[in-house]
Amino acid sequence: MKTTVEDCLDIDVDWLKRHGYLDDDLVGLICWNELLRREKALLRTHTFGGGADLSIKSSTLGVDMSLKIVPENPCLPGRRKAFLCHDTISKHRKLYLPPGGDTFACRECHNLSYVLQASHRSLFYEQFRAAKRLRKLLY
Ligand SMILES: [Zn+2]
Repeated sequence: MKTTVEDCLDIDVDWLKRHGYLDDDLVGLICWNELLRREKALLRTHTFGGGADLSIKSSTLGVDMSLKIVPENPCLPGRRKAFLCHDTISKHRKLYLPPGGDTFACRECHNLSYVLQASHRSLFYEQFRAAKRLRKLLY
């Protein structure tokens, strides 16, 4: 069975922007309160020019890595930002950490599918997605 994006923890460049991580150097915690997982990681950004270096550390997840955040469109450096995935030069607004993994990377690098593409679409996943939508509304 293929791992889906819904099985993963994710980090979103828009979330980082909303919480000030892309405006200035900042240290803070990101917490995931998923239906089946509660995790946290230490974030540290070092901003420069139009982008930032982001370090993510979590001893419980076994994650200790750095990512580059760059303008999505180099011609518009003040506008939307994106992650450079660790082993490609492609830009992504969201990166994923699969269960048991130690690296945040894009959907393609982790070979992830969406629940709708998976053959095991079930009532559980529908409820999981509804809970996830509700959680997003609360933040
Ligand atoms: Zn990738």
